[in-house]
Amino acid sequence: MKKLPIINNQAIEFEFESLFDKFAPIYFDNNSTTFCDDDCITAMLKAMEINYANPSGKHSAGNLAKNGIESARNDIAKFIGCNSSEILFTSGGTESIITAINSAIKTHYPRQHFVTCVTEHKAVLNKLEDVKKENDKYQISYLKVDKNGYFDLKQLDEFLSKNPHTNLLVSLMAANNETGTIHHNIFDAIKLAHMYESLIHIDAVQIAGKIPIKPYIDAGVEFLTIAPHKLHGPKGIGILYIKNNMPFYPTIVGGSQESNRRGGTENVPSIVGFAAVAKKELTYLNIVSPLHRLFIKLLSEKIPSCIINGGDMPGTINVGFRYVHRDAMITKLSEYGLYASIGSACSKGITPSHVLEAMNVPPDYLHGSIRFSFSKYTTENEIIKAIKIIDRSYSEIRILSVGIFGN
Ligand code: PLP
Repeated sequence: MKKLPIINNQAIEFEFESLFDKFAPIYFDNNSTTFCDDDCITAMLKAMEINYANPSGKHSAGNLAKNGIESARNDIAKFIGCNSSEILFTSGGTESIITAINSAIKTHYPRQHFVTCVTEHKAVLNKLEDVKKENDKYQISYLKVDKNGYFDLKQLDEFLSKNPHTNLLVSLMAANNETGTIHHNIFDAIKLAHMYESLIHIDAVQIAGKIPIKPYIDAGVEFLTIAPHKLHGPKGIGILYIKNNMPFYPTIVGGSQESNRRGGTENVPSIVGFAAVAKKELTYLNIVSPLHRLFIKLLSEKIPSCIINGGDMPGTINVGFRYVHRDAMITKLSEYGLYASIGSACSKGITPSHVLEAMNVPPDYLHGSIRFSFSKYTTENEIIKAIKIIDRSYSEIRILSVGIFGN
């Protein structure tokens, strides 16, 4: 784990301090973002220092930069399990999602029916709402989920079978960012979508680097999104897989970069930086699974009233703490050197998470739910320390919350 700076009050004294290295906080917020891999940083620095020419330049330096991009595209294609011509570099996960939706609309006129799930990332949900706001002819059907976060194929069938000729795009996430719920029936959903003439986009942002992507490509999806900063790559770059021979319409028009699919000078350092990560062995679930089980075991021994909200992807644990507010807990955990998160930048203050609400998380836990997310660098020692910090923080916050929530 890389050392993080201690900010302001995090270096406070506390009596169980001797257990911890105050200057090495525990970072359990890897679903939000991860630190940059060393090889990634080296490749990026080299690109910034030496390979800085514009890849469109018609001189040797320009060619060098262009070759850097194309060699990176090959490495990233190998990691995904697709052809290099199927990779579009964007600025991040959100832009990839928006590009897929826009392109589907532009190239499949007059189709107008979208299907998505209520627990999708806001990048999908808000983009689709925006599409509908701009033109009311678009319809969006939302799959509900059960208490574990799973959608029902029957409901998908109902939505898609109504009028197949109007189906445009089914957009589903492979795993949920807040709870780690993996949609195990997604391959059947892909088959259904194709049977009913719909395109399909998979938001693979949370599984990339954890679970192989190739089965999704082999299942014939038209679009798939990856955000490199979630797997120790850099920020400022996204990947959109676009199936070969798919009609495509760009969202960012301008120069002829990316084979006319996205205008603008390419982000060479981030592209080659991510390639350095993609070349490594990346499916880490075997490392994280025992740590995931250990965390849940120790936590339930210390705080038996806790619940785990959905989730079956090792390394993502959404814990419901009873009768406390998540913001107070997160702040306290941070003071003690444990960095976690509420799971979504969109659920702030008194607004509950749309994911947990959709899963019918009981009201006593809804506002007290926190996501702990590990990386392949997480250690058993960190888990043991984290549980002590959580136990301590929960007791302190509970005492303060008695007046609000009762005993
Ligand atoms: N989809 C999922 C499942 C995510 O977790 C995120 C980011 O948290 C995104 C999409 C958006 O990615 P980015 O923030 O890199 O644009």
